[in-house]
Amino acid sequence: MDCIFCKIVKGEIPCYKVYEDEDFIAFMDINPINNGHVLVIPKKHSELVSGLDKNILSKIMPLAEKIGSAIRKSGIKCEGMNFEIFDGKTAGQEVPHVHLHLIPRFSEDGYEHKYPAGYCDPNTRERLEKIAEQIRIAF
Ligand SMILES: [Zn+2]
Repeated sequence: MDCIFCKIVKGEIPCYKVYEDEDFIAFMDINPINNGHVLVIPKKHSELVSGLDKNILSKIMPLAEKIGSAIRKSGIKCEGMNFEIFDGKTAGQEVPHVHLHLIPRFSEDGYEHKYPAGYCDPNTRERLEKIAEQIRIAF
């Protein structure tokens, strides 16, 4: 397979590893937003979160919390932390293998999320009820 993260898992491409167990590996993002920017990936390939085994899904957040705590304790500048998964190309996923970003944050670090035009639409409440219903019936 031509997946760059699978190659990292197999050791075919080097990485700056911070953690590894039987299911996961965590390593430094090579284009860090801030110092201490780590990627946590399941070893078994899946492009999307929906393709992950339940067992892996249940482990990823506890592991992310553990690594996030280590980053906070490490002395790296970190006043807050983003836990981010971009699920799908349209959502900003650049490597098609699930990865969770741990991004240390501090005030005025220049990293920000942009909101779309019309973000504070006054008709939002009615629309929210309709959309919530759409989601509830989809379970
Ligand atoms: Zn992969």
